[in-house]
Amino acid sequence: MTASDHPTITGLSTAVYRFPTRQPEADGTLEWDATTAVTVTLTAGDRTGLGWTYSCPAAATLTRDTLAGTVRGRDAHDITGGWSAMHQACRNLGTRGLVSHAISAVDIAWWDLKAQLLGVPLTTLLGRCRTEVPIYGSGGFTSLSDIQLAEQIEAWQEAGCTAMKIKIGESWGTRITRDLARIEWLRALAGSRTQLMVDANGGYRIGDARRVGTALDELGVTWFEEPVSSDDTAGLALLRSTLRCDIAAGEYAADLYDVRALLPVVDCLQLDATRCGGYSGWLRGAALAQAQNLDISAHCAPSLHAFVAAAVPNLRHVEWFIDHARLEPLLVDGVPEVYDGALHPDDTTFGHGMTLRDDAEKWCAA
Ligand SMILES: [Mg+2]
Repeated sequence: MTASDHPTITGLSTAVYRFPTRQPEADGTLEWDATTAVTVTLTAGDRTGLGWTYSCPAAATLTRDTLAGTVRGRDAHDITGGWSAMHQACRNLGTRGLVSHAISAVDIAWWDLKAQLLGVPLTTLLGRCRTEVPIYGSGGFTSLSDIQLAEQIEAWQEAGCTAMKIKIGESWGTRITRDLARIEWLRALAGSRTQLMVDANGGYRIGDARRVGTALDELGVTWFEEPVSSDDTAGLALLRSTLRCDIAAGEYAADLYDVRALLPVVDCLQLDATRCGGYSGWLRGAALAQAQNLDISAHCAPSLHAFVAAAVPNLRHVEWFIDHARLEPLLVDGVPEVYDGALHPDDTTFGHGMTLRDDAEKWCAA
C-alpha cells in the first residue's frame, strides 16, 4: 500500500438550510414551523463526503470552530481515530446535545468519504444484513385536523407502510380524551392489520401515562414512545413492567452511557445517527442493544439511516418521518427509494450516492 492510498482530510465545509413546514406543527411538548438541516462536507484527494444533522445554525459554527481543526490533516481512512479526537476536543463544551449533532454530521460525511476513497458503495463498507429496510409512517401531529391526518395515512398506505405512528400527549398531556379519539380515528383509517404506534414526547406525568397506556393496550396499540420524559428511567421501567405495549425511547441518546441507561427500561431502543455520534455511534449502540436481546429502531432522517440500518441484524424499522421525507429530496439528489414499505439503499454507486442539490441554495440560511 502506498502513501497515496491513505489521503488526508484536506477540507471541511458546512452549510445551513431551513425548510419551512407547510403549516405550523406540534407534538405533545413542542411546536415548530421549520426544520433546519446542517450539512458537512469532508474532502480528501478528489473525493467529497456528505453528512448532515437536524439541528440549529450553532452546530455549523461549532463544526467550523472546534471540529474542523481536529479533523484536517488526519488519515481519511481512520474514522474511529477521528471520532475519538473530535469527542476529546469537545470535553470542556460538554459532549452531548449540539456537540453530538456536529460530531454526527462529520462522522456520516466521513463514512461516505471513506467508501468513495475505497471505491465501494457505503453498504459494502458498513455491511449489509438486508436489501430492504422496513419503514413505518410517522407524523400525525397533534396540530392536524382529522382530514389532514387522513391524508398522511393515505400517503403511508401508498408507500406500503404496515405500521404507523401519531403524536399524542397533546398540550403536555392535558388532552387525553382527544389523544384517544385520534388513535381510534387512526385505527378506523389504517385498518385492523396495521400496527399502531404512538409517541407522547414525554408529555405525561407517570399516573396519566399508566392510565393512557392501559387504554392503548385495549385499543391494540403496540408501541408507546416516551410516555414520560426519557430522562425518567424509573418511570419508563414502571410502565414497561405494567403495560403490554412496547415502551420505546432513545432519540436523544448521545453516547453509549446514555444507551446503557436506557437499555434496561425499553423494549426497543431508538437511536438517531444524526445525534448519537453518526454511523459510528449508531453501530455501537445497536451492538449494545443486541447484547440485551433488543431491537433497534432508527429515529427520523430516513435517507441517512437507510444505509446503517441495513447493516445491523437487530433492526426493527426506520422512522419515515414526514417532515424529513419531504425535505430530504429537496436537499440532496439520490435519496434511497421508498416502496413496498421499505427503503432501498443504493448499492450501485460509491459512498451513499447522495449529493447536495444545486437548487438547495434557495433554502440556505447561513
Ligand atoms: Mg419521538
